[in-house]
Amino acid sequence: MSVRVVARIRPLLKAEIERDVIVDAARAPGEAEDKTSVVRIPNPKNDSEAFSFQFNSVYGQEATQAQLFDNEVSPTVKHLFKGYDATLFAYGVTGTGKTHTMRGGKSLAERGVIPRLLSSIYRKARKLEKDSADATQVEVSMSYQEIYNDRVFDLFEPPEKRTPAGLPIRDVGNGKTQVVGLTERPCSSLKDFEQLYDQANVNRSTSATKLNAHSSRSHAILCVKITQTTGDEVRVSTASAIDLAGPEDNRRTDNKNERMVESASINKSLFVLAQCVEAISRKQARIPYRESKMTRILSLGQNNGFTVMILNLAPVRSYHLDTLSSLNFANRTK
Ligand code: ADP
Ligand code: MG
Repeated sequence: MSVRVVARIRPLLKAEIERDVIVDAARAPGEAEDKTSVVRIPNPKNDSEAFSFQFNSVYGQEATQAQLFDNEVSPTVKHLFKGYDATLFAYGVTGTGKTHTMRGGKSLAERGVIPRLLSSIYRKARKLEKDSADATQVEVSMSYQEIYNDRVFDLFEPPEKRTPAGLPIRDVGNGKTQVVGLTERPCSSLKDFEQLYDQANVNRSTSATKLNAHSSRSHAILCVKITQTTGDEVRVSTASAIDLAGPEDNRRTDNKNERMVESASINKSLFVLAQCVEAISRKQARIPYRESKMTRILSLGQNNGFTVMILNLAPVRSYHLDTLSSLNFANRTK
């Protein structure tokens, strides 16, 4: 099992009025010239002093979607085809670029890591089917769910058809779980995938408006199942990509009642996630994945997987304290 924690600092946005950039990517001593693995940020109590946080890699403002994918996600494809699972998280407060990183924009260059991963999976599948001497067949299917207020919803269901209590989770042995009633859709090409993914994302944003909550308050969990069949032998692996709900700070936002409950459930699940990732990276025997719905659904750390945590950060001063707490969060999981 391996864990990589990487940070990505988003660029200043055209629409962003604030131009006070305080966070940047830096090289660690002795690090190759074309690499950075340190995030530098001033001490909020003393601007002339800087804090440094080191990760496996740090992507600065100018880093492209292609660079992030090629370096951090593309290597998992060969492991997936060997039968291992891969899990990819985007963590960060709202507005720092999680959805941009995962899903990205419409143009080819702006495509996020999810469509790039799928494209790479299909390419590898076609090649395998064509080249293998033993007639291997590869099938790809997907499920897409969100956890909102500690309830699990199928993003293939239109919001008006949702059961308010959400879908139950059941143990199916070997540390694996199943979300009862969750749709699994076959998708045999990138075009198929994109159509289903876009449709489900529409469900995600309409449910967000209906429930009078922002989609930033839910975790969106995409699971892509790859089934390779060669004669009698079947090999199954799963790639999961999670656009996490942003952490909430109840001291600084005036969250009341229901909002407070939502915040507590978001923060608890993020806390459990950090504990699991920490346990995996320290190779501890006990991974507390059963302590939250998200980590339970992912059976996090149960299946010899590869985990990449992308920490999304904004470069400007208005995010100063949020950025520091995100950095501290990610630092704990190393
Ligand atoms: P989040 O999902 O964390 O709330 P978004 O992905 O919606 O954040 O990003 C907030 C805004 O910043 C969006 O307008 C998005 O297009 C833009 N953005 C984020 N990261 C980048 C990037 N690397 N390059 C260009 N624009 C970005
Ligand atoms: Mg988002």
